[in-house]
Amino acid sequence: MKTAKEWEELYSDDDFKKKVYTGDDLGAICDGGGTSIKLWSPVAEKVEINFYKDGELGTRRYWSQPMELDYQTGVWSVYVRESLHGMYYDFAVTIDGVTNLTGDPYARAAGINGARSMVIDMRKVNPEDWWQDKAPAPTAETVIDELHVKEFSWDPRGGWSEEARGKYLAFTHNDTTLDNKGELPTGLTYLKNLGITHVQLMPIYDYGSVDENDDTQFNWGYDPVNYNVPEGSYSSDPHHGEVRVRELKQAIQALHQNGFRVIMDVVYNHTWNLDHAFQKTMPYYYYRTWEDGSLSNGSGCGNDVASERPMVHKYIVDSVLYWAREYHIDGFRFDLMGLLDVDLMNDIRAKLDDKYGKGEKLMYGEPWAADKTATTIDLAHKGNIGKLDTNIGMFCDDTRDLIKGSAGDKKATGFVNGAPRTERRLLDAVKAWRVNGSPIKTPGQIINYVSAHDNQTLWDKLSETTPDETQRMRQYRLAVAIYMTCQGRPFMLSGSTFCRTKDGDDNSHNAPIELNRLDWGAISDNTGLYRYYQGLIELRKMLPGLTDKSGTAHEDIYNEWAAADMVGYMVDNTDSDDSCTSPWTDLIIVYNRNPNEQEFDLGEDEWERLADDYDTYRWKAPEKFSGKYKVAGTGWVMFGARK
Ligand code: CA
Repeated sequence: MKTAKEWEELYSDDDFKKKVYTGDDLGAICDGGGTSIKLWSPVAEKVEINFYKDGELGTRRYWSQPMELDYQTGVWSVYVRESLHGMYYDFAVTIDGVTNLTGDPYARAAGINGARSMVIDMRKVNPEDWWQDKAPAPTAETVIDELHVKEFSWDPRGGWSEEARGKYLAFTHNDTTLDNKGELPTGLTYLKNLGITHVQLMPIYDYGSVDENDDTQFNWGYDPVNYNVPEGSYSSDPHHGEVRVRELKQAIQALHQNGFRVIMDVVYNHTWNLDHAFQKTMPYYYYRTWEDGSLSNGSGCGNDVASERPMVHKYIVDSVLYWAREYHIDGFRFDLMGLLDVDLMNDIRAKLDDKYGKGEKLMYGEPWAADKTATTIDLAHKGNIGKLDTNIGMFCDDTRDLIKGSAGDKKATGFVNGAPRTERRLLDAVKAWRVNGSPIKTPGQIINYVSAHDNQTLWDKLSETTPDETQRMRQYRLAVAIYMTCQGRPFMLSGSTFCRTKDGDDNSHNAPIELNRLDWGAISDNTGLYRYYQGLIELRKMLPGLTDKSGTAHEDIYNEWAAADMVGYMVDNTDSDDSCTSPWTDLIIVYNRNPNEQEFDLGEDEWERLADDYDTYRWKAPEKFSGKYKVAGTGWVMFGARK
């Protein structure tokens, strides 16, 4: 076998670089009349395809036949004059005299644990009325809730049937209530009443860290095996490849019907391990290696996908377009986007825009990596935001850490829990950091958040610095108000509305489901916090000065001032054409992180109080104020002036 370095040299060779394929029919295509299967592997000496009636490894082969190579493109193919829908298959690929069995990197369906690929005819699998499925129209503001399929519905108190708990099918129920008592809604109705517009599903592609035979296992799923196949453990039957496909589509259909757009978490930066179809069909082509042949590990997960290679680029583009087309996915959240190259990200954006309209599909990612990666190409990290399309966004760790302290250091503080010299910077955060020649093009590129699946939950993080629970809750509410009044796109970890805790765990990726599950029992003690979020979201949607995603949005923030522990600013809340769709033309927003009340001057004009730390629904029956106003300790206030 060649070494990694020798493979690298081969792939850099000009003759090799011509062996690319531009067709859109890699994998198994089954149109009813016949079945075509194609695999790109210009380095293979021989490829045989094996067919099976069963998806389980070790079961008997049904038949096998050699595949034929097209020397020009390096594509191996076979065509069978009948529908092989439901047939499982794998490839015996011989490279350098060594034969390996592997699934299809382009598999669209698979058997248990994704080991064998499956031929699928979608027309036989789609749920009823799937052809009519349509996402709700995009809204001026996006409020994103990050959900894990199993965490969402596993808690028995959530009210789901035993069969639906922890599964895709849980999303097809919108009538669940706490303890099935019919009083407090859980699940979809809980989210709908909250006012969120987008659900971001944590990995739903087939991942490797959970044995699909064992329902007790849990993982977040950032360990891709089959990029184009849904994860099996969330289906009611992972043994039959069509079930997971149908049930995920049912979940998406139900989310759409309930008014949510659906964002998929995609992890193209690494694979679970090298025991992967990528490596078995094209050794070291899909992965970055260092000069000495060692694997690059900027992901911290053992390997980095070489997104800059032409057929890897094509693979990722094809995969994103496939999910958008086949599963009606409305947006993509790129894990460790800082490992993917700028050209790839812009190309995906252009192709999605071309098919669905400009900006119609959301795209954003984590603009960082865990470590250095073995390439010199421009990568989609924070420093290169200026090179990314206007409609590619990034998680804003600056705002996150400024509000509540660094995520990497548990005891670190931010504005709400007392970090010194944070007041002025908070005014930059309000403008989505579009200050001092910042390369950020619009607030639409900024995802604002104070908690996500990574790191501690907001409640746990604040508990590190603020043992007193009453004070901690005040800081919590202030933190939420700040990021919900910044320009950008608000994002939250599911369960934030009931003070989600993971007992301080800052990396619960493989902790038991009992720790990770959404604790629906906690909603009854947190109805006040829920209403607080609800009011803030509803109010925000009425404030174009804050939700404006245009390149001039920052100009709407004016009269900023910062004092000790207190920050204030005004917002031009008219629309870009100077008309005003909102009831209020101007806003005043003041945050006070001092535990004692502090005073500021509203001036002579009368202002309506719209919201504060106590009540975010004050705008429903606003009181008027002028002159000196006292902002509560660890509190905030928003005023509005009518047209
Ligand atoms: Ca799996």
